[in-house]
Amino acid sequence: MKQRILSGIRATGRLHFGNFLGAVRNFVKYQTPGNVCLYFVADLHTLTTLESPDELRNNLVEMVKDYIAAGLDPERSIIYAQSSVPEIPELSLYLSMMQPLGDLQRIPTFKEMVKKHPNNVNLGLVTYPVLMAADILGPRATLVPVGEDQVPNVELARHLAGRFNNKFGETFVIPEMMEQMIRVPGLDGNKMGKSEADNAVDINASSDQIRDRYRRGVTDTLKVRMNDPGEPERCQSVFPVHRLVTGEDERSEIEVGCRAGTLSCVACKDKLARNIAELLLPFQEKRADLASKDDYIRDVLNDGGKRARVVIKETVGLVRERMGIVIY
Ligand code: AMP
Repeated sequence: MKQRILSGIRATGRLHFGNFLGAVRNFVKYQTPGNVCLYFVADLHTLTTLESPDELRNNLVEMVKDYIAAGLDPERSIIYAQSSVPEIPELSLYLSMMQPLGDLQRIPTFKEMVKKHPNNVNLGLVTYPVLMAADILGPRATLVPVGEDQVPNVELARHLAGRFNNKFGETFVIPEMMEQMIRVPGLDGNKMGKSEADNAVDINASSDQIRDRYRRGVTDTLKVRMNDPGEPERCQSVFPVHRLVTGEDERSEIEVGCRAGTLSCVACKDKLARNIAELLLPFQEKRADLASKDDYIRDVLNDGGKRARVVIKETVGLVRERMGIVIY
């Protein structure tokens, strides 16, 4: 079936390996003939935790370089900045009228943000999933490739679309999620993130840097000495990533060696770092080529913004009509 694919990432800095595996690698996969792909950088979402306007401006351009280096092709995907389409925040306002507040306060990503930024619980954090629903419903996406952490947010968008359609008549497409979503653990075993936890692996890191980062990865805490037998299922940050990046034969050897106590955690981590570095090499080569091509990236954003706006404007026009808003 032909799909309309939509996804985005906040412009909070360079991508980490969790974004790469959990999100961007899938974005690339969907660029097949017949699919319409829209991928954006969520600069408006970034404002909820804004620290520096200059950084935001710069991160937006750098993230598009990451997108393209990872395989997104401006000829096959519409690549744009969320802020290029003012109809998105407008749609978010309309949708907010249909969204009970209580659900928003129970969303796990909101609770996580409150924990991380207890002194900055702004209204934008609370309404974040409604803006995200506008991102998704505006282009009438049929499929939203995201990491596992975003499931409740996409569910909320689905409910909002259903509620709106029930009240005002068929307007929105109810989007689906991918069948297999993943959660890449960070070095501390929690979800890899761009946060203060400092648990992420930068996708631009050299193989030595990746190896050094993984040296501090939390493994099976019961395997204390090198030759103690371990249990891969208890390993918090290394074996779960082997599952995502390492070939089956090598992975079985690792499991056997770990359980027998013949494979140390350091050796296991080095194998993982080597596999990650190998996986990232083509990305890093292309990324280096794009490093100085800011003008090209601005053209991509300009063109993508215009194209995305055409699609989203159409939906928002219909929503206005359904809700009785006439613009004089
Ligand atoms: P964010 O970095 O929060 O803007 O997330 C951007 C995209 O990357 C979303 O689709 C997330 O689900 C995905 N993502 C972020 N961190 C991870 C992770 N540790 N594992 C898998 N996917 C992730």
